Amino acid sequence: YKLKRIGIIAIHGDVIEHANILKKLKLEPVEVRSPEDFKNIQGLILPGGESTTIADLMETYGLKEALIKFAKTPLPTINYQLPTIFGTCAGLILLSKFGLLSAEVDRNAYGRQLDSFEVDLNIPKASRKKIPVAFIRAPKIKKISKNVEVLCKFENAPVFVKENNIWGASFHPEITKDSSVHKYIFSR
Ligand code: GLN
Repeated sequence: YKLKRIGIIAIHGDVIEHANILKKLKLEPVEVRSPEDFKNIQGLILPGGESTTIADLMETYGLKEALIKFAKTPLPTINYQLPTIFGTCAGLILLSKFGLLSAEVDRNAYGRQLDSFEVDLNIPKASRKKIPVAFIRAPKIKKISKNVEVLCKFENAPVFVKENNIWGASFHPEITKDSSVHKYIFSR
Protein backbone atom coordinates (compact mmCIF):
# COMPACT_ATOMS: atom_id res chain seq x y z
CA TYR A 1 0.00 0.00 0.00
CA LYS A 2 1.07 3.56 -0.49
CA LEU A 3 0.50 6.56 1.71
CA LYS A 4 -0.34 9.81 -0.06
CA ARG A 5 -1.83 12.50 2.11
CA ILE A 6 -0.10 13.05 5.43
CA GLY A 7 -1.60 15.38 8.02
CA ILE A 8 0.45 17.66 10.24
CA ILE A 9 -1.05 18.99 13.46
CA ALA A 10 -0.79 22.68 12.63
CA ILE A 11 -1.61 24.71 15.69
CA HIS A 12 1.86 25.44 17.00
CA GLY A 13 5.38 24.18 16.30
CA ASP A 14 7.37 23.06 13.27
CA VAL A 15 4.84 22.66 10.48
CA ILE A 16 6.51 24.02 7.34
CA GLU A 17 9.69 22.02 7.90
CA HIS A 18 7.78 18.74 8.03
CA ALA A 19 5.64 19.78 5.05
CA ASN A 20 8.72 20.52 2.96
CA ILE A 21 10.23 17.12 3.67
CA LEU A 22 6.95 15.37 2.81
CA LYS A 23 6.80 17.27 -0.50
CA LYS A 24 10.35 16.22 -1.28
CA LEU A 25 9.19 12.62 -0.83
CA LYS A 26 6.26 13.24 -3.22
CA LEU A 27 3.75 13.03 -0.38
CA GLU A 28 1.03 15.60 0.12
CA PRO A 29 1.12 17.48 3.44
CA VAL A 30 -2.27 18.42 4.88
CA GLU A 31 -2.53 20.92 7.73
CA VAL A 32 -4.74 19.54 10.48
CA ARG A 33 -6.58 22.13 12.59
CA SER A 34 -10.03 20.64 13.05
CA PRO A 35 -11.48 17.13 13.43
CA GLU A 36 -12.74 17.22 9.81
CA ASP A 37 -9.16 17.48 8.61
CA PHE A 38 -8.61 13.84 9.62
CA LYS A 39 -10.80 12.74 6.71
CA ASN A 40 -8.79 11.60 3.76
CA ILE A 41 -5.34 11.42 5.33
CA GLN A 42 -3.43 8.17 5.80
CA GLY A 43 -0.76 9.38 8.17
CA LEU A 44 -0.08 12.14 10.65
CA ILE A 45 2.83 14.08 12.13
CA LEU A 46 2.71 15.62 15.58
CA PRO A 47 5.47 18.22 15.45
CA GLY A 48 7.66 19.52 18.23
CA GLY A 49 6.87 22.74 20.04
CA GLU A 50 5.54 23.22 23.54
CA SER A 51 3.64 20.12 24.58
CA THR A 52 1.46 21.80 27.22
CA THR A 53 0.30 24.42 24.71
CA ILE A 54 -0.31 21.89 21.97
CA ALA A 55 -2.16 19.54 24.33
CA ASP A 56 -4.45 22.35 25.58
CA LEU A 57 -5.27 23.54 22.09
CA MET A 58 -5.80 20.02 20.77
CA GLU A 59 -8.25 19.39 23.55
CA THR A 60 -10.07 22.70 22.95
CA TYR A 61 -10.45 22.07 19.21
CA GLY A 62 -11.53 18.44 19.59
CA LEU A 63 -8.28 17.26 18.01
CA LYS A 64 -7.25 15.02 20.87
CA GLU A 65 -10.39 12.94 20.59
CA ALA A 66 -10.19 12.91 16.80
CA LEU A 67 -6.55 11.80 16.94
CA ILE A 68 -7.23 8.93 19.32
CA LYS A 69 -10.04 7.67 17.10
CA PHE A 70 -7.95 8.15 13.92
CA ALA A 71 -5.03 6.18 15.40
CA LYS A 72 -7.22 3.15 16.02
CA THR A 73 -9.29 3.10 12.84
CA PRO A 74 -8.15 0.91 9.92
CA LEU A 75 -8.31 2.79 6.62
CA PRO A 76 -10.00 1.35 3.52
CA THR A 77 -7.75 3.43 1.24
CA ILE A 78 -4.67 1.55 2.46
CA ASN A 79 -6.04 -1.97 2.66
CA TYR A 80 -7.45 -1.51 6.12
CA GLN A 81 -4.06 -0.85 7.65
CA LEU A 82 -3.85 1.55 10.56
CA PRO A 83 -2.65 5.07 9.75
CA THR A 84 1.02 5.84 10.27
CA ILE A 85 1.53 8.34 13.09
CA PHE A 86 4.82 10.05 13.98
CA GLY A 87 5.44 12.32 16.97
CA THR A 88 8.67 14.27 17.32
CA CYS A 89 9.85 15.82 20.57
CA ALA A 90 6.72 17.52 22.03
CA GLY A 91 4.77 15.24 19.66
CA LEU A 92 6.32 12.22 21.38
CA ILE A 93 5.25 13.62 24.77
CA LEU A 94 1.68 13.93 23.47
CA LEU A 95 1.58 10.36 22.13
CA SER A 96 2.62 9.14 25.56
CA LYS A 97 0.19 11.47 27.35
CA PHE A 98 -2.76 10.49 25.13
CA GLY A 99 -2.08 6.79 25.72
CA LEU A 100 -1.15 6.02 22.11
CA LEU A 101 2.46 5.02 22.81
CA SER A 102 3.38 2.84 25.78
CA ALA A 103 6.36 4.89 26.86
CA GLU A 104 7.10 7.05 29.85
CA VAL A 105 8.88 10.25 29.00
CA ASP A 106 10.64 12.88 31.03
CA ARG A 107 10.21 16.39 29.66
CA ASN A 108 13.26 18.57 29.05
CA ALA A 109 15.58 15.85 30.36
CA TYR A 110 18.27 16.64 27.78
CA GLY A 111 18.67 20.15 29.12
CA ARG A 112 17.42 23.67 28.50
CA GLN A 113 17.11 25.61 25.25
CA LEU A 114 20.78 26.62 25.46
CA ASP A 115 21.81 22.99 25.78
CA SER A 116 20.19 22.14 22.44
CA PHE A 117 22.51 20.18 20.20
CA GLU A 118 22.81 18.42 16.88
CA VAL A 119 24.12 14.91 16.56
CA ASP A 120 24.51 12.29 13.83
CA LEU A 121 22.61 9.15 14.70
CA ASN A 122 22.96 5.66 13.41
CA ILE A 123 19.48 4.39 12.51
CA PRO A 124 20.24 1.26 10.49
CA LYS A 125 16.66 0.67 9.38
CA ALA A 126 16.37 4.19 7.98
CA SER A 127 19.76 4.73 6.36
CA ARG A 128 23.22 3.26 5.95
CA LYS A 129 24.63 6.72 6.56
CA LYS A 130 24.42 8.57 9.84
CA ILE A 131 21.46 10.91 10.08
CA PRO A 132 21.81 14.46 11.46
CA VAL A 133 19.10 15.35 13.99
CA ALA A 134 18.56 18.02 16.65
CA PHE A 135 17.70 17.72 20.33
CA ILE A 136 15.89 20.86 21.51
CA ARG A 137 14.80 20.68 25.16
CA ALA A 138 14.05 17.12 24.26
CA PRO A 139 12.11 14.55 26.26
CA LYS A 140 13.94 11.45 27.45
CA ILE A 141 12.28 8.07 27.06
CA LYS A 142 12.48 6.54 30.54
CA LYS A 143 10.51 3.38 30.22
CA ILE A 144 8.88 1.43 27.42
CA SER A 145 6.58 -1.55 27.38
CA LYS A 146 7.46 -4.87 25.75
CA ASN A 147 5.64 -4.15 22.48
CA VAL A 148 7.71 -1.05 21.83
CA GLU A 149 10.56 -1.53 19.36
CA VAL A 150 13.71 0.56 19.83
CA LEU A 151 15.05 1.83 16.50
CA CYS A 152 17.81 4.00 17.86
CA LYS A 153 19.53 4.73 21.15
CA PHE A 154 21.61 7.70 22.18
CA GLU A 155 23.69 7.67 25.37
CA ASN A 156 22.00 4.43 26.36
CA ALA A 157 18.43 5.73 26.22
CA PRO A 158 16.00 4.97 23.41
CA VAL A 159 15.43 8.06 21.24
CA PHE A 160 13.44 6.58 18.36
CA VAL A 161 10.75 3.98 18.97
CA LYS A 162 7.80 2.29 17.30
CA GLU A 163 4.70 0.59 18.64
CA ASN A 164 2.60 -0.91 15.83
CA ASN A 165 1.54 2.10 13.74
CA ILE A 166 2.85 4.71 16.18
CA TRP A 167 6.37 6.15 15.94
CA GLY A 168 8.05 8.53 18.35
CA ALA A 169 11.36 10.38 18.39
CA SER A 170 12.93 12.48 21.13
CA PHE A 171 14.71 14.51 18.48
CA HIS A 172 13.73 16.75 15.60
CA PRO A 173 14.58 15.13 12.26
CA GLU A 174 13.03 17.97 10.22
CA ILE A 175 15.34 20.88 10.82
CA THR A 176 18.51 19.40 9.39
CA LYS A 177 16.92 18.94 5.93
CA ASP A 178 17.70 15.23 5.90
CA SER A 179 14.64 13.27 4.79
CA SER A 180 15.68 9.70 5.65
CA VAL A 181 13.62 9.39 8.83
CA HIS A 182 10.42 10.57 7.10
CA LYS A 183 11.19 8.39 4.11
CA TYR A 184 11.60 5.34 6.31
CA ILE A 185 8.34 5.98 8.14
CA PHE A 186 6.06 7.27 5.40
CA SER A 187 7.29 6.08 2.04
CA ARG A 188 8.64 2.59 2.25
N1 GLN B 1 10.39 21.02 25.88
C1 GLN B 1 9.23 20.89 25.06
C2 GLN B 1 8.07 20.31 25.85
O1 GLN B 1 8.25 19.80 26.88
C3 GLN B 1 9.50 20.04 23.85
C4 GLN B 1 10.53 20.69 23.01
C5 GLN B 1 10.42 20.44 21.56
O2 GLN B 1 9.42 19.93 21.05
N2 GLN B 1 11.43 20.85 20.86
O3 GLN B 1 6.97 20.38 25.41
